[in-house]
Amino acid sequence: MLISIASGKGGTGKTTLALLLAAAHSQVTLLDCDVEEPNCHLFLQPQWQAAGQDITVMVPHIDSDRCTGCGACSAVCLFSAIAISGNSAILFDELCHSCGGCLLACQQAAISEEQKTIGTLTAGTAAAHPGIYLLKGTLKVGTPSAVPLIKQMKQTGLQLAGDILIDCPPGTSCSMVTAVKDSDFCILVTEPTPFGRHDLELALNITRLLRLPTGVVLNKSDGAAGDESIETFCASRQVPILAKIPHSLAFARQYAAGCIPGEFQSIAASIWQQLKAERSAGT
Ligand code: SF4
Ligand code: SF4
Repeated sequence: MLISIASGKGGTGKTTLALLLAAAHSQVTLLDCDVEEPNCHLFLQPQWQAAGQDITVMVPHIDSDRCTGCGACSAVCLFSAIAISGNSAILFDELCHSCGGCLLACQQAAISEEQKTIGTLTAGTAAAHPGIYLLKGTLKVGTPSAVPLIKQMKQTGLQLAGDILIDCPPGTSCSMVTAVKDSDFCILVTEPTPFGRHDLELALNITRLLRLPTGVVLNKSDGAAGDESIETFCASRQVPILAKIPHSLAFARQYAAGCIPGEFQSIAASIWQQLKAERSAGT
């Protein structure tokens, strides 16, 4: 079962929930797809299996001897990654999205492709939780899109047996869409605030468009008006609330110290039960 854990914005407790769910499972693969700021490894202290694998994309290489400066490549590039100066094309590869359009446009065979490293993928087993196998993606600073790296991570993870959890990038960008796409179930984590509700709605619009079965976990539950607002919204969209996680100072202290707190493991176990029931109902 492929479970994605996402949120409409950062700081809602998405990674916390991913870690809680991972720790409540006997054998699971966790993909840290929050590749601009991966931090699951800080809690899991994995024994890395090997040096990180470089993840590459293809970018154009322009042969200035063949280039006539006709501008066809620049005209076709939607990302303004090619400019024409005098009689030659100049590539700004930090803007390139590797679509390959310029190669097709060039009639002079002046463009070829070469590999560019966009990040690394490392893997290892958690020291204190040997049932958790972590895949961590790290995007190279300055890389315009995390999509190719996240795709590669998912491809690698799907070759492994058993359940997979994906800690998604926050927000509702292309990276988040790539991370949640094709999951069997998406959990959206939110908070009992107007901002939380607003961003939950944006994230829910994405999972609806992708036709993903979706549930909500309400973190930092206040047991009052904030909760009611989220409950009313979820009811109006017919989305189940899988769990509410209350504020806990002890939990926050342990988490801040880099541990996966033992508290709320019963909540995590209950979420797994609901996911299994969902899977049974869908088969
Ligand atoms: S399309 Fe080819 S020939 Fe024309 S400017 Fe681009 S690289 Fe040069
Ligand atoms: S590969 Fe695509 S994005 Fe990159 S320079 Fe060519 S047309 Fe632009």
